[in-house]
Amino acid sequence: MKHITISEVGPRDGLQSVETTLSTEAKLAWIEAEYAAGVREIEVGSFVSPKLLPQMADTEAVVRGAQHLEGLIIAVLVPNVRGCESALRAGAHKISVPLSLSETHSLKNVRRTHAQMLDEIRSCLKLVEAMPESEKPVFEVGLSTAFGCTLEGVVPESFVVEMAERVLDLGVAEVGLSDTTGMGNPAQLERLLTGIWQRCGESRLTGVHLHNTRGQGLANALRAVELGITTLDSSLGGLGGCPFAPGASGNIVTEDLVFMLQSMGYPTGIDLEALLVVRQQVAELLPEEEWFGFTAAAGLPKHFGAATLQ
Ligand code: ZN
Repeated sequence: MKHITISEVGPRDGLQSVETTLSTEAKLAWIEAEYAAGVREIEVGSFVSPKLLPQMADTEAVVRGAQHLEGLIIAVLVPNVRGCESALRAGAHKISVPLSLSETHSLKNVRRTHAQMLDEIRSCLKLVEAMPESEKPVFEVGLSTAFGCTLEGVVPESFVVEMAERVLDLGVAEVGLSDTTGMGNPAQLERLLTGIWQRCGESRLTGVHLHNTRGQGLANALRAVELGITTLDSSLGGLGGCPFAPGASGNIVTEDLVFMLQSMGYPTGIDLEALLVVRQQVAELLPEEEWFGFTAAAGLPKHFGAATLQ
């Protein structure tokens, strides 16, 4: 079975949607603990205006602080060229720019039209390309609201494929698909993936960011893996609640995702028992937050351990 990379997004996606601002030390302790449990890709923060998101004001320090973890892919999110400059300066390994396929959502979220966002992506790309080869990060555009938008409703699938192609034609290495609103279903996911793969090639889309807002997270993740996706985003305890659906988790719960994949024989390199301990430690840092996930509540079955740890 092929190895699946779990990209932990809790320190970014999770923390940017909660009230509490964790200290740099606490964030690094979280990142180091997940690393020790075997996680090898972590989105550690976003380079946005600290006025908008004070929780992310120390992203540069977090990126630098995580550099000593050998083999860890340090991913960050940047909404614009300024963020991209900071990400490059800090030495991030993977830079992702979100492009909302719903223009209404894009205007509301980053105050930019699609044309303006494409310009921004072009400028980021220039900066990335100017880097020396050994320091060049992976540059990716995350196609958000790809499965539907709370403001616009349906996002036409043909448009998703068309925008993926336009973005890739700019010279971006990869696009990712994001079910920002948790509206996606496995059949739709299959149509979008195969549509983009047929048009642009399978190597240009290898990761998805799925949400569990309507309970479809693991069903979608499973379909994605069966079809050939090799990187899945998720967050510890499903942190990063969904602002428009209180009580529902936004992100897929990392612990449950690891349980599913390893039970099926997909290696993730993660020690789930250790990860459940990290969950407890991080939960203590964020006592106000709701923690999701069934595996932590039910515990690991007796036979789950050495045999499934791959
Ligand atoms: Zn998310």
